[in-house]
Amino acid sequence: MAFLPKYLVRLVLLVLSQVVELIEKKKAFAITTHVKPDGDGLGSSLGLCWLLKSLGKSADVIVRGEVPPAYHKLPGVDLIRDVEHLNGSYDAVFLIECSDLERPGIRGLNEAFTVNIDHHSTGDQFGTINWIDPTASAVGEMIYNLCKAIGGRITKEIADCVYMALVTDTGSFHYSNTTDRTLKVASELIKAGAKPEEISGAVYNNYPWSRIELMRRVLDTVKRDETGKIAYLRQTLAMRQESDAIDGDNNGFVNIPLSARDVEAVIYMREIGPDSYRVSLRSKGDLNVAKIAERFGGGGHRNAAGLQIDGDWDAKEAELVDVLLQEIERRLREDRGAE
Ligand code: 5GP
Ligand code: MN
Repeated sequence: MAFLPKYLVRLVLLVLSQVVELIEKKKAFAITTHVKPDGDGLGSSLGLCWLLKSLGKSADVIVRGEVPPAYHKLPGVDLIRDVEHLNGSYDAVFLIECSDLERPGIRGLNEAFTVNIDHHSTGDQFGTINWIDPTASAVGEMIYNLCKAIGGRITKEIADCVYMALVTDTGSFHYSNTTDRTLKVASELIKAGAKPEEISGAVYNNYPWSRIELMRRVLDTVKRDETGKIAYLRQTLAMRQESDAIDGDNNGFVNIPLSARDVEAVIYMREIGPDSYRVSLRSKGDLNVAKIAERFGGGGHRNAAGLQIDGDWDAKEAELVDVLLQEIERRLREDRGAE
């Protein structure tokens, strides 16, 4: 969890009170999240939608593209609209977990009153209101806080949606963003009717066989650098085709090499076009991969970050391995210096 000095904690609370005031004063809202939405993006969007409806407000959830099967059973999923352009007159549009105004892939947002709700501190402050809480494990935790701050009741629908956000963004409560607060919120959600087995099962035991086919091919590429601390693996476009894979089939592949004792960081490169790759970085402990991703124009959290990179595959992979090794060595030197 990110540590925040007291004045920033106060600032986050101040902005929360502005969001509460906005909701109390206004009536018609839209909610959106990034393209290729994940459990936090969709769970938080739908959770907020149910909260607004329970307060007598109107709320539309608008998301570009298809909803992945893992989220088909979330309450309200059938109400999600796939629109290219913001239409309708809204008092405000909530953007959940979007690093900038372009992330939802919806035109016309620049003319709206926008509320940027995020727990990543690396995004732009593009909103009319920017409610950014890096201490929250997921935006879902912030939606819970909003519900409490506005005096709302955690309904079964809100509980299901927010639990989905928490369980996916914390890697089933494994990652370092899991705090006592996260577990307290999860406990309240279960009390309100969320069923952990059903929600986790919808994500983790609900893949098509193509995932297993793709996993076999991707794991076949895994290698380590000579120190054994960095593992790297690749996914080509051909592998996706041969496996009949769909988006989301590769969820969590990047964590598999990290489960080896000596591996401190993983680089997972996916071909998206000629000489063009999406990269996921993962690390253990204090090794900060967000810092490294930012150097390449990406971002994320200390232990989970991403970026896009172009160039020769071998050369770019070697460059990333090198940068990570340098960071590991720099930290070792610092530790020695501190002794
Ligand atoms: P993943 O590897 O699962 O795609 O992303 C891991 C984390 O890094 C997520 O929290 C995600 O939001 C962030 N992330 C991934 N790619 C990018 C990127 O290109 N830019 C920024 N700012 N964050 C990213
Ligand atoms: Mn999130």
